[in-house]
Amino acid sequence: MKSTEGPAASYVIIVGCGRLGAYIAQTLSSRGSSVVVIDKNPAAFSELPSEFSGFSIEGDAAEISVLRQAKASRADLFIAVTGSDSLNLMAAQVASKVLGAKRTVARVDDPDRASSFEELGIEIVSPTTVSAGRFLTQISYPKGRE
Ligand code: AMP
Repeated sequence: MKSTEGPAASYVIIVGCGRLGAYIAQTLSSRGSSVVVIDKNPAAFSELPSEFSGFSIEGDAAEISVLRQAKASRADLFIAVTGSDSLNLMAAQVASKVLGAKRTVARVDDPDRASSFEELGIEIVSPTTVSAGRFLTQISYPKGRE
């Protein structure tokens, strides 16, 4: 899968290899980034397509040793997209404040938790808010048009 969209960050760590994490991993890898995916469940790596050229680490991202093993201190971009807001925020904070990852983006479904972390420099994406916005846009057009 090749894409020409957006500049590729050179070294990217992704925590959580569910559908979302695997999709982001494959997209950034196909754009030329070096990608490492962390998941505590090795079966999750089957979400990655066979053409994925990055690396995978089996481990709990709540443990700093696992983030160190992934070389989070060298990450240009650290993305945390497990199903747990708390884990995503904690891992992003440790990667950023303790290990020195350059940029961190966390999946946070609860919008009430977003602003305080954004003040700490952690970027937040709420899939709930994003998909609700997309639904509302979709239904504002007549059926079959966008
Ligand atoms: P989902 O919630 O299905 O989008 O996927 C979340 C993914 O994050 C799953 O593959 C989980 O195994 C993974 N995950 C959840 N907690 C952790 C954790 N503490 N460390 C690493 N991976 C995790």
